[in-house]
Amino acid sequence: MGFAAKLISGEAKPEDCPLLLEPTYNDNLETLKNLLLPFTEKGLTGLIISDENCMGCGICVVVCEENRMNEEVIYGKGGRHKDVQVLRIECGKVRLVDAKKCKRAFEPPEFCRACVDHCPTNAIELVS
Ligand code: SF4
Ligand code: SF4
Repeated sequence: MGFAAKLISGEAKPEDCPLLLEPTYNDNLETLKNLLLPFTEKGLTGLIISDENCMGCGICVVVCEENRMNEEVIYGKGGRHKDVQVLRIECGKVRLVDAKKCKRAFEPPEFCRACVDHCPTNAIELVS
């Protein structure tokens, strides 16, 4: 329970558990990492994305300044998989695929809320 609480608060990572590093538990490790992703993303960026509200329109993908470093995105496309992207549409929903590339996660952080302000369904919330 203590370790679980630390995972949620970001004080510990799933990889800190030696048992999860054993090959037998590879699937469990991946599942846990995916479950914790929203907490990690929130911690880095303050952004929370609601799958329920996201309709996958891709507006946030093309207004994100970091995504717009990719030529494809400037022309209104979603970017190629090899591109460095912060936001991407996957299976009809937006994903914060690389939270560390978000301006808000820079060191020092840069102010940005373009994705929040342009989302037509308020699916992206800024909580810090
Ligand atoms: S988060 Fe909003 S802007 Fe981004 S794809 Fe979903 S509905 Fe569109
Ligand atoms: S806050 Fe700015 S940099 Fe971060 S994902 Fe949203 S638009 Fe992109």
